[in-house]
Amino acid sequence: MSTLPPLLDARGRALRDLRISVTDRCNFRCVYCMPKTVFGRGYPFLPRAELLSFEEIARLARLFAARGVKKIRLTGGEPLLRNGIERLIELLAAIPGLEIALTTNGALLAQKAAALAAAGLKRVTVSLDALDEAVFARINEAGCSVARVLDGIEAAAAAGLSPIKINCVVKRGMNESEIVPLARHFRGSGHILRFIEYMDAGSANGWRLDEVVPSAEVLRRIGEHFPLEPLEPNYPGEVAQRWRYRDGAGELGVISSVTRAFCDACTRLRLSTEGRLYTCLFASEGFDLRALMRSGASDEALDAALAQVWAARQDRYSQLRLQATPGLKKIEMHYIGG
Ligand code: SAM
Ligand code: SF4
Ligand code: SF4
Repeated sequence: MSTLPPLLDARGRALRDLRISVTDRCNFRCVYCMPKTVFGRGYPFLPRAELLSFEEIARLARLFAARGVKKIRLTGGEPLLRNGIERLIELLAAIPGLEIALTTNGALLAQKAAALAAAGLKRVTVSLDALDEAVFARINEAGCSVARVLDGIEAAAAAGLSPIKINCVVKRGMNESEIVPLARHFRGSGHILRFIEYMDAGSANGWRLDEVVPSAEVLRRIGEHFPLEPLEPNYPGEVAQRWRYRDGAGELGVISSVTRAFCDACTRLRLSTEGRLYTCLFASEGFDLRALMRSGASDEALDAALAQVWAARQDRYSQLRLQATPGLKKIEMHYIGG
């Protein structure tokens, strides 16, 4: 429960969601995120002492919850690589008013799903960019099979972590061929498939605008096989636009971070593995909460710092990118309404 006034940023947006990265390491080398050429052998990942401890994360989570954060999503890197992640989930699940979710590549989910649910995890999002084994192998570059991720999804469903969201990043020339097969596979499963536009996050992936497959194209491709109709958002400012199959086989979503920026409704803050607060996915500077915490700061001082960071927040990177690339709007309008 909030015990302090809700925080509004400089554009009047409330603080609602916190994403916490629990490790910078990953067992995949997805070409659009951690390409092998950059994250090869010898890459200097953070030493253990640099990571926030579970107790430090839980302390901050309590302060955020008191400031109106309703949902915490654990991410990374690959969060299931962090030793004892179940214990962190237990600590977070004990904080009143917080919903705990986690995003994973699914490789370790089959073995961990039951323990995660028992620790208090409520929902899981699993990333899966292809059903074809050869295409998936070329994307993750780590030898993980599609079958292993599907087993993870089934184990999560069996553990009660439903409805499960399945995230698919679509990149031109990488996996457009997988859009319809993924839709066919997850239709009627009760899981919610979501297609994400490839973003210029970080600087390692060599992002190019012409590699973005607009959500409108994704919807058109699926709609040619399985007619779709739009659904109302679950809540104002929902990041994914919801659609449903007209034949009643369930819903799917698209996240149009590039062609339809949603900065006006962005209520999200990010806490990095080493305890820096970032007010935008594309921010280059983060506020060092860990340094403050490890210098012995009181809860009051930490609260004042995070409140100040949010109050000063101006970010709207995706909107500015959209304005700087007006051709994108044309792409979207060309397809929209189908
Ligand atoms: N390793 C976990 C996973 O893959 O689910 C959690 C971390 S991963 C960074 C979180 C999500 O970001 C995944 O769904 C991934 O596909 C997505 N992602 C990574 N790089 C992206 C990019 N350049 N554009 C769009 N989505 C991206
Ligand atoms: Fe790892 Fe997730 Fe990035 Fe793929 S998207 S490299 S699984 S962190
Ligand atoms: Fe939020 Fe930044 Fe993404 Fe805009 S670009 S939606 S402000 S994270």
